[in-house]
Amino acid sequence: MQEYKFLDVGFTYTSLAAEMDAAYARVMQSGMYIGGAALEAFEAEFAAYCGAKYCVGVGNGLEALVLPLRARGIGPGDEVIVPANTFIATWLAVSQTGAQPVPVDADPATMNIDLAGVAAAITPRTRAIMPVHLYGAPVPCEGLRALAEAHDLLLIEDSAQAVGATDGGKKAGVLGHCAGFSFYPGKNLGAFGDGGAVVTDDAELASAVRMLSNYGSKVKYQHEVAGGNSRLDPLQAAFLSVKLPHLDAWTAQRREIAAVYDRVLADIPGLTLPQVSPGTQSAWHLYVLRHEQRDALQKALIARGVACALHYPVPNHQSGAFVAEFGHMSFPVTEAICRTCLSIPMGPHLSLTDAEAIAAIVAEVARSL
Ligand SMILES: *Cc1c(COP(=O)(O)O)cnc(C)c1O
Repeated sequence: MQEYKFLDVGFTYTSLAAEMDAAYARVMQSGMYIGGAALEAFEAEFAAYCGAKYCVGVGNGLEALVLPLRARGIGPGDEVIVPANTFIATWLAVSQTGAQPVPVDADPATMNIDLAGVAAAITPRTRAIMPVHLYGAPVPCEGLRALAEAHDLLLIEDSAQAVGATDGGKKAGVLGHCAGFSFYPGKNLGAFGDGGAVVTDDAELASAVRMLSNYGSKVKYQHEVAGGNSRLDPLQAAFLSVKLPHLDAWTAQRREIAAVYDRVLADIPGLTLPQVSPGTQSAWHLYVLRHEQRDALQKALIARGVACALHYPVPNHQSGAFVAEFGHMSFPVTEAICRTCLSIPMGPHLSLTDAEAIAAIVAEVARSL
């Protein structure tokens, strides 16, 4: 039986092994293992890729969300609007600063934050809105930007899953005032370890984030504020520089795979397919189906050689980390997504022939339920 992997993080190494090994040797021989030319080069390349003025490499995607909030002085007593339906890091980024996450339920079509709900959640304590381009599908940000400007709020995109996605032709990363990216290995632009980046057009914010990520210091041993240590390794930066020129081709492959799934699975009773907002292009980090008999579907697909995953099985407000504070709240759309979601294989490791075969198996199994 043919086995279809859910994702293959090793694929991007093996497909670029000679260049990766050369990048490794270059950094090793440079004697610069924190900061330096390899990091600066990647930061410039990634800013240019997003169409932003500044990029600051940081330790991981969580820190890429925490540091801009800290840079803006957001903390205890402040509120930050977040989607109920997201990976837990979005909420933790807010709670780590001491500010209060204010969750808004999902739009049932896109599974992203409900835009009307955002406006309704603004209070005098609100300091920021953190939309998440979940599964790679952009939240349309024009209206959010106007809302943020009207209320003097920071609009910070959680772009961890959305590198290369677009809204109105603009890339995720430049849709708000700043954005956090993750280079976790499983992400669309993955490093070979942890990594992240903050992207912005705001010089002051970029400089404050860089300072906070490096012991509150711009000049060695002069510590202007109480910062921390959250830096992107030059070794990871060098690997990411090798990958970045290939990202658009990988994203194009993801889009073609999604188009195959959309076509083959369009009219299967019981299946709900992911929808992308008009005017946006998803980076298709994940292809997330919904089905009322999700567990049976998942079991049958695994038995047929199709690896699956759940994004996410437990809503944040019911997870151990947050249940004490948020467990009494109800987010019916998010709860339904967690109960019915099923992610099928997605990534440049799959050919279009693989995608056709996977879709045919999903169709057959769903029809039999
Ligand atoms: C992966 C992810 C993060 C955190 O990134 P790390 O690099 O794992 O810290 C934040 N938000 C979302 C939506 C993510 O998927």
